[in-house]
Amino acid sequence: MDTLIQFSFVVAAALFIYGLKQLGSPATARRGNLISSTGMLIAIVSALVDQGIVEYQFILIGIALGSIVGVAAARLVQMTSMPEMVALFNGFGGMASLLVGWAALSPAAGTFNLVTIVLSILIGGLTFTGSLVAYGKLSETISSAAVMFTGQQVVNSLIVLSILASAFMFCLQPTDPQWLYLVVGLSLLFGIMAVIPIGGADMPVVISLLNSYSGLAACAAGFAVDNNILIVAGSLVGASGIILTQIMCKAMNRSLANVLFSGFGSAQAQGGEVEGEVKPITVEDAYYVLEAATNVAFIPGYGMAVAQAQHVVKELAELLEQNGAEVNFGIHPVAGRMPGHMNVLLAEADVPYDQLLEMDEINPRIETVDVAIVIGANDVVNPAAREMESSPIYGMPVINVDHARTVFVLKRSMASGFAGIENPLFYKDNTRMLFGDAKESIGGLVREFGS
Ligand code: NDP
Repeated sequence: MDTLIQFSFVVAAALFIYGLKQLGSPATARRGNLISSTGMLIAIVSALVDQGIVEYQFILIGIALGSIVGVAAARLVQMTSMPEMVALFNGFGGMASLLVGWAALSPAAGTFNLVTIVLSILIGGLTFTGSLVAYGKLSETISSAAVMFTGQQVVNSLIVLSILASAFMFCLQPTDPQWLYLVVGLSLLFGIMAVIPIGGADMPVVISLLNSYSGLAACAAGFAVDNNILIVAGSLVGASGIILTQIMCKAMNRSLANVLFSGFGSAQAQGGEVEGEVKPITVEDAYYVLEAATNVAFIPGYGMAVAQAQHVVKELAELLEQNGAEVNFGIHPVAGRMPGHMNVLLAEADVPYDQLLEMDEINPRIETVDVAIVIGANDVVNPAAREMESSPIYGMPVINVDHARTVFVLKRSMASGFAGIENPLFYKDNTRMLFGDAKESIGGLVREFGS
């Protein structure tokens, strides 16, 4: 039986790794998800059987209940609320590691065991409260602004030092419960203190980081209960979370320290004076320009997700192709509010993967584009990132839509995007603003093509 269980752990680990690899491309991502979750099912069932913790009927009831909650959450939660849901999942993962670590405490525990127990409690605890604050900010249950006060870094440093001291004392005197309670309490407090100074819109980066922490906590819990598959799964989550965090920071041209400590979301910084005139365009006039275009690029952003315009965008793309135009989609790595946000939406609308071009692919050919249609994107197409040294986003790589022959910007108003800064693109000579909800504007263009 033991050999069989160890073998199923190896199978589960292989499925995790293969599944992760498949997540690397939109074409195989769904399969990757399925493969990884199959690995997780095998891992959980094997671990439960191995430990003989509960009887089989309870395992089956647990699987059924978990599946119901999972399916309901996946179906009910809006795409735009996905980061919030991930935050909650991370938080529960952290809490689970805290509880597993705590439960592993026994009078026979050796020093190594005690260190892994304290690590799972510490990292699990801060992941739990940190993720709850992140959830609150993203769902606007609490204010999403960065909360900053004088001496904040000193207070946080003191908390960290107290956690380390209590953890050390706990390892020396494991039978004295006060040190353990202190580690638990301070870790929970630190999770809150670490996340409040981060502005609401930076929260997806923090969620990715907390995701990594939840993996590390699970890994420590794996050592605490001597479970190999938990160690493997935890390490994979820990490593992939930190890689994703790094990718997001790089795409915003910011360091992780800047995201964590600068309170970016609190100051609605201005990028300097913008010159030029805003030139609105009607759906009818936009149609005439598009009708004559031979090369069209769509640049989607957060507003496409808000408007849920992906299906009608795909309809327009097909009409343009039937009209003889080459059509592509330019995808910025941090367009929207979570990594891969645009890919997921466009995949939902069955846009062919070979039409999706990453920023580095679309930028070199943007000058050959007749019309760049910006759908609810703002920061990721802001030329201030290239042109204005005073801009908070100066240096962030953007899609250079202003180098296309004509740019249509579809949004409802002149409001700024997540970074809270002016966008000189709206004032350029070759830009026309098509004001209104993106779904309605694109729907209008589709009707024009049909009539
Ligand atoms: P932005 O947030 O810059 O802009 C979105 C625009 O969409 C707004 O200006 C808004 O203008 C418009 N909009 C909203 N609703 C609609 C609607 N119904 N119809 C039409 N337009 C609409 O989005 P981007 O995608 O350009 O940039 C993403 C930003 O998020 C970047 O700054 C990035 O750094 C940040 N970010 C991204 C993360 C990620 O992983 N993707 C993670 C963390 C941060 P209006 O109100 O006038 O309609």
